Amino acid sequence: MLPVNNPATTRTIAKVPAGCSEDVGLAATAASASAKEWRDTPATRRIQYLFKMKQILEAHTDEIAEICTNECGKTFAESKAEMTRAVENIEVACGIPLLLQSEFSEDIATGIDEFMIRQPIGVGACISPFNFPIMIPFWFLPYALACGNTYIVKPSEKVPMTMTRIFELFEALDLPAGVLNMIHGGKETVDAILDHPKIQAISFVGSSAVAKYVYQRGNANGKRVQAQGGAKNPVVVMPDADIETTVRIIADSAFGCAGQRCLAASLIILVGDAKKIFTSKLVEAAKAKKCGYGMDSAADMGPVINIESRRRIKKLIEEGIDEGDTLLLDGRTVGVKGFEDGHFVNPTVFENLKKNGVIHTTEIFGPVLGLMHTATLDEAIDLVNQGAYGNSACIFTKNGAAARKFRHDAMAGNIGVNIGVAAPMAFFPFSGWKESFFGDLHAQSNHGVEFFTQTKVVVERWHDDWTRKF
Ligand code: NAD
Repeated sequence: MLPVNNPATTRTIAKVPAGCSEDVGLAATAASASAKEWRDTPATRRIQYLFKMKQILEAHTDEIAEICTNECGKTFAESKAEMTRAVENIEVACGIPLLLQSEFSEDIATGIDEFMIRQPIGVGACISPFNFPIMIPFWFLPYALACGNTYIVKPSEKVPMTMTRIFELFEALDLPAGVLNMIHGGKETVDAILDHPKIQAISFVGSSAVAKYVYQRGNANGKRVQAQGGAKNPVVVMPDADIETTVRIIADSAFGCAGQRCLAASLIILVGDAKKIFTSKLVEAAKAKKCGYGMDSAADMGPVINIESRRRIKKLIEEGIDEGDTLLLDGRTVGVKGFEDGHFVNPTVFENLKKNGVIHTTEIFGPVLGLMHTATLDEAIDLVNQGAYGNSACIFTKNGAAARKFRHDAMAGNIGVNIGVAAPMAFFPFSGWKESFFGDLHAQSNHGVEFFTQTKVVVERWHDDWTRKF
């Protein structure tokens, strides 16, 4: 068993199994046994369960958000925002009767019609990371069920309590047995999911190294896999950008969720005079952010997830200093009254990053912002495109032509124009590129529907019609 610790108090609040490969077998068998009945349930009936799911989550928002804050560290407001995103995905999936409508061509030859239908894959499973315990399973689960698949959720072993409580509340849905299942554990459980012959589709979200591994092993076993990885998100600031909103939005993006967001701004590229205009203001905004216990409404940001994460972030800051980056704000010392042992890291800002150095290229996944400088927008876009990841790229400017060039040329799947966290709504796919995504179809919306269905094309001729004997 592994301890689940509150990252603000460091107290152990639960225990979770380290590996449950036998449970994978039980869940896969149960999900497979109910797959036929569930796929034969009309979509209009399947979505009635989703409507109830939405009502349950909304009725228990505060309770679930508090559990999330206590095991994950993020602020209560951030946990509640996750609930909103989860519910939005349920709402989109409730449109499945329309989303599953198919194509039909009459008379492709005399008396012959051809059409395509979408049918469920069978049993799906998602493997999620620690940083969004509520939202991320709902990027997949509602679409999987709405499309007629049965499903298995494996939360991160670092934050298993939130989803466990949600599943307890979902008992009231009265879903047929085996349609929705949860299993716990870490690598051993993931490997059992990747190898289990009764699981056909796998959705993964986590670090790039594990995403690549999951994608390759799942594929080798003949499964359909979508695997979202890590990120290092660049933000280009033009000299004409609105000063107040740009600074506020970048600081929220970089330091919200203690920097543990796959769409967090982590590399700021200041173009031309933007360096003079924005550098000190960004440092001031960073300094103003208050670390604290997530349930304290005065806290702007909570702790990072655990002691290992805090140590790793501090080590990266030291390496940045050793490589010659200029440290403008050092967040390594934090004292949060009453939470002295908590895994807090204050906002940290570097400038003059060594090109291809550790702060320039590493996904730090903590509240550390690096500033770089280019003379022109073209150079800034080149710098963006040299990065290994492609989760998001943003630009701040008042110039429409600059914004258009950026959105056209930047090699990232989610683009923000005067936006700090370019998170797609549930009715758009979450489009990571490069090392941030392995697969073809992304999470959410119509990509979710395509991922959780297989197409069947039917060519049809009826004897009477063909011979014209009526
Ligand atoms: P992680 O890769 O350590 O863990 C993710 C999941 O994989 C967990 O469920 C864990 O149990 C499992 N896992 C961990 N190591 C494994 C291994 N060696 N073999 C098999 N399974 C393993 O990620 P994390 O630390 O929980 O989350 C942070 C990462 O997730 C960051 O890199 C972040 O950018 C990324 N993330 C990406 C997105 C996105 O949309 N692209 C969203 C959220 C988080």
